[in-house]
Amino acid sequence: MDEYHLNKRGLINVIESPVDFISVDHAKCMGCKNCVIICGMDLWKMRGGKAMLRPDYKKFCTECASCYTVCDFDAIEFTFPPGGYGIAYERG
Ligand code: SF4
Ligand code: SF4
Repeated sequence: MDEYHLNKRGLINVIESPVDFISVDHAKCMGCKNCVIICGMDLWKMRGGKAMLRPDYKKFCTECASCYTVCDFDAIEFTFPPGGYGIAYERG
């Protein structure tokens, strides 16, 4: 049975991916904070001048890819979760 999570804003449901789909290369991170600023789900923090992704990001990420888009240093890798996992929009 897949884990089923309600995100912190209660607007979407996320079926947690069994695999990672975002990663950050700290050797490339220049600490610009763009990812921290852009993430609407507040999943990025700065620590020691480097961007850190919340370990439980898979429970809340809306797969907007904004963090990937705004990183001018190619430090962030983004793919979509495998089929059947990730964000689920519901009618209502
Ligand atoms: S946007 Fe890229 S370079 Fe800037 S803090 Fe985030 S990971 Fe680092
Ligand atoms: S894809 Fe969007 S929601 Fe997910 S970590 Fe990046 S900016 Fe945040």
